[in-house]
Amino acid sequence: MSYVVSARKWRPQIFEEVVGQEHISKTIKNAIVNNRIAHAYLFAGPRGVGKTTTARILAKALNCKYNINGEPCNKCETCNSFNLSQSLDIIEIDGASNRRIEEIRSLREAVKYSPTTGSYKIFIIDEVHMLTTESFNALLKTLEEPPSHAIFIFATTDVHKVPLTIISRCQRFDFRRIELNAIKNQLIKIADSEKIEIDDIALTFISKKADGALRDAQSLFDQVVSFGGKKIDASIVSQMLNLIDEEIYFSISDSIINKDFLKAFEISKQVYDNGWNYIDFTSGLIEHFRNILTTVLKKDTTFVETSEQTKMLYLEYIGKYSESDLLRILTYLSKVEKELKLSQNQKLFMEITLSHLIGLESTTTISELLKNIQSGNFPKTEELKQEPIKHKKVNNIPTQNNISENTKTILKDELKTSISNVDSNLSDEENSLINAVINELGGREFK
Ligand SMILES: [Zn+2]
Repeated sequence: MSYVVSARKWRPQIFEEVVGQEHISKTIKNAIVNNRIAHAYLFAGPRGVGKTTTARILAKALNCKYNINGEPCNKCETCNSFNLSQSLDIIEIDGASNRRIEEIRSLREAVKYSPTTGSYKIFIIDEVHMLTTESFNALLKTLEEPPSHAIFIFATTDVHKVPLTIISRCQRFDFRRIELNAIKNQLIKIADSEKIEIDDIALTFISKKADGALRDAQSLFDQVVSFGGKKIDASIVSQMLNLIDEEIYFSISDSIINKDFLKAFEISKQVYDNGWNYIDFTSGLIEHFRNILTTVLKKDTTFVETSEQTKMLYLEYIGKYSESDLLRILTYLSKVEKELKLSQNQKLFMEITLSHLIGLESTTTISELLKNIQSGNFPKTEELKQEPIKHKKVNNIPTQNNISENTKTILKDELKTSISNVDSNLSDEENSLINAVINELGGREFK
């Protein structure tokens, strides 16, 4: 048998098999059962989510003599002739290549003729938004007074380009982007039936890359199988699709906690060496921090679309990041995403961005520090270093009562400006106290 791509081989033949559009299938099936058939349908939504497939099933069901609960039987003469692309009653037109007025005029002629075997003559126009204005006007005339046997099903990815006069004459259905898990489950079905071993992370990579489009996921799956054979793991997929390694995002969120500045340069180099796009990398980073935020807020990973293994990693951030810090990071990164597009040197820009991120003081640490400075108490460095993000009770350094107000002021100013060169004539006692505090805070010698 010759090779058939998965998207075609697994194309649903009944409504029940359409993935992720249950809200539409149910309504349409009920309409068929109750014989409430519209003259024109408009299927809108992103590519690869089942619009044309649903249009074909609907067309078949409308002409099927033995439809069961609104589903086509796929056995009778009319179903068969359509499945073999021999139906004279169901006509499929590609709006992109038949957009001119002449083509719509001949369509208007064809509409007049009665169906041959079925009850309806059905016209499916794909990418209907591609029609010219004249064509739309010609089509509108037919839609205003269609013969009782004619049914139109329009599909479009750009519903805003379809004139309102057309939309208002159609029953409109909005198709959803398909959820990650629904795509994954469909790929598992295909893999099982083709005896292909593929792990959860690899499936997640493919499904994520498809971004809600099942057809894209199936094409990627075919590509990955041609590349890797019967046994597929995450590394094969990520190599083939040149995906940005998720690990890199986790190493960024870890280095913010650990204040590991060197990582900024290592990561930027890794992105550069792998030939990854810096803009894709930034949007991945935004998604990563958005995932941490939802995990921190919800204390679970309900809103995170990723593999089970990766979800476990997100759970570890609970208690390590505060909501306000994550919001600050996300606000900063969305600004970066815009500016990066204009940058002449994206690698350098990324290094600065990552250094900034790693250098961001956590909100709790800042407010804690300010409070302590105001009250004359100072936190110990180890405590800030150990868990800089988490709010922690800070022990006081034993203070001496005889420290002068002047010294306190200098010290506070010092601490506020991260301690640099201060020249003053302090007593030995004061000097040693400040040295102790400074050692606690930054480990630098004060002279
Ligand atoms: Zn049938």
